[in-house]
Amino acid sequence: MSTNDQNPVHYDAVVIGAGFAGIYMLYKLRQLGLTAKAYETGDDVGGTWYWNRYPGARCDVESLEYCYSFDPELEQEWEWTERYPGQPEILRYAQHVAERYDLYRDIQFNTKVTKAAFDDDTGRWHVSSAPAVDHIDHNHAPAGPDADLVTAEYLITAVGCLSSSNVPDVEGIDTFEGELCHTGRYPKEGIDFAGKRVGVIGTGSSGIQAIPVIAETAEHLTVFQRTPQYAIPARNHPLDPAEQAEVKADYRKLREQNKTQHGALGARFDWNEGSVLDVEVEEAFKEFDARWEIGGFAFLGAYSDIARTPEANHVAADFVKDKIRETVTDPEVAERLIPSTYIGCKRLVLDTDYFITYNRENVTLVDISENTITEITPDGLRTVDGTSYDLDVIVFATGYDAMTGSLLRIDIRGREGLPLAEQWYAGPRTYLGLGVPGFPNMFTITGPGSPSVLANMIVCIEQHVDWIGDCIDHMRANGHRHIEATEEATEAWVDHVNLVASYTLYPTCNSWYLGANIPGKTRVFMPLPGFPDYAQKCDEVAAAGYEGFALIQS
Ligand code: NAP
Repeated sequence: MSTNDQNPVHYDAVVIGAGFAGIYMLYKLRQLGLTAKAYETGDDVGGTWYWNRYPGARCDVESLEYCYSFDPELEQEWEWTERYPGQPEILRYAQHVAERYDLYRDIQFNTKVTKAAFDDDTGRWHVSSAPAVDHIDHNHAPAGPDADLVTAEYLITAVGCLSSSNVPDVEGIDTFEGELCHTGRYPKEGIDFAGKRVGVIGTGSSGIQAIPVIAETAEHLTVFQRTPQYAIPARNHPLDPAEQAEVKADYRKLREQNKTQHGALGARFDWNEGSVLDVEVEEAFKEFDARWEIGGFAFLGAYSDIARTPEANHVAADFVKDKIRETVTDPEVAERLIPSTYIGCKRLVLDTDYFITYNRENVTLVDISENTITEITPDGLRTVDGTSYDLDVIVFATGYDAMTGSLLRIDIRGREGLPLAEQWYAGPRTYLGLGVPGFPNMFTITGPGSPSVLANMIVCIEQHVDWIGDCIDHMRANGHRHIEATEEATEAWVDHVNLVASYTLYPTCNSWYLGANIPGKTRVFMPLPGFPDYAQKCDEVAAAGYEGFALIQS
């Protein structure tokens, strides 16, 4: 439907984003009988799984756990084919959900929300949008003459935690004559690496997944590594139909188990409560070896203190360092691949054939921790020491302006025109990761201050959407027009998140959890470790009449 400034269309709710959060939110709003519209920059649903089409893109949560639980019929009818779902399969699943519940009709694709402002006079949100533009960084699309305006009672952001690509501002980037892309904005038509000299910059989850696959066809692959990363084998394999049937026979059991786990995942592996410091190193290594063979995050479940205690962490880290040395044949290359940080303080990566790829003749590892990239040239790139690398393709696997980037790239204004960027000038401040003081009726799905990226995202999304749905239902039933997080509750919540994080080793390294990957970004730990406690707290807040929020009568 077309709208304009003079005659905007009114909705009960506007949802920003049509990834897994956005489409489930849309479904929930429909169930509540509300009118809703979702805006999406891509031309289909899927969010992160729409954009991340890079070779090797795969989820690190098992498929039977990385799917919606809200409809038992949906979970029974969908058949996963692999232990960990690949990007194309997850995208097909999102499309299936959108079709099954007839959600497409309320989503406007290829559209970027540019501005959302709370109108103090009408008490409604005014939301402007414009056509989305280019692939690599369309988050900067300005509100042009085509800007559309609608209004809504509720503004619900479902923008994803890892959706604003971080493309480093390297001199000469526009002069490159080959093909250049970011893993999180990967071209739909793909890239043919055959016979090409390829450079991958970045060795986080995306780079580590892409590197082995690109190496298979590229003439030569040069990996530019700033910080080495720990990686554990995923051991992906086709899913045994009997195993899938067994889970489906009692899916509720798996779902309920997940809700009690720290990361809302891993219902199917054993979480050991013991300390690694209570056993001999040989015994610990035997346990780690068994889990290394199982693959995946089961490794972290070997002992309960790996993520909390430096001495415990060293034991697990040493095990992985040994594995790297065993795998990589050139000892010098192996040493360059060995991390010096605590294991898990940056997001632990699950890999398929990552370290072994460095044994290939056509792969070179370049350490850019000090010898940084100074310039991108028409033919490739140059590092500080003056070395030039001739490249046909450059793949930026350089991550995201995580958790806040996609929100702050929209001009969001609360009461009295307060910009969200100003409210968050010293880092994101939310209550429960769901509400922001000064921004009435705005809900941030998997916002900073909630577990989100430290847990199974689908479980976190469902928990937030259900909570928001219940809250809106409660408001309407009780004649409340607005809900707004209080300053006091927000202050206390931000302190709580920092305190919980301080009990872990997470804050010890320069991760995107802290915003440390983005030059100039305030260093604040953004997600909250500990899913089950968090979900319980949200339930308690609701049961206490939305304690910590101000509810305003119509
Ligand atoms: P990331 O973890 O932030 O890794 C980015 C990489 O690029 C790092 O090695 C980083 O080095 C490097 N880098 C960043 N800026 C650079 C610069 N200016 N110059 C040189 N190197 C630079 O990003 P990601 O790999 O896209 O992963 C982000 C998150 O997405 C993951 O942690 C995970 O949560 C999620 N993800 C999940 C999956 C999965 O489910 N399997 C797959 C992909 C992504 P530094 O370490 O020094 O900053």
